[in-house]
Amino acid sequence: MKALPLGSRPPRPASPRAKHVPLRSCVACRQVRPKGELVRLVLSPQGEIARDPTGKAQGRGAYLCPSFTCWEEGLRQRRLGYALRTEVDAQRKAHLLALARSLFAPSRAQDEP
Ligand SMILES: [Zn+2]
Repeated sequence: MKALPLGSRPPRPASPRAKHVPLRSCVACRQVRPKGELVRLVLSPQGEIARDPTGKAQGRGAYLCPSFTCWEEGLRQRRLGYALRTEVDAQRKAHLLALARSLFAPSRAQDEP
């Protein structure tokens, strides 16, 4: 086998316009993943912590894996509050855990008639 003929085409990276995938790390487990795989939470100017499905909402954001375990962990270890630079009180905690449950609840398909 001979190498490719020289002078024809210089080798290029996979794609000339390789898309840059922004990486973020989960505040609970610290795993680095593409931004799109994580759930962004944002602290709004009104002081509300809410999910930011667009990833573009204004405010301080924090990322968590789409897993209930990480949300629980992030809340229990105060990592979420630290990342958002806010106090996550019991009320907020309850709200976020309920949100996590609604997002990542184990499939209820089996209970369905
Ligand atoms: Zn995680």
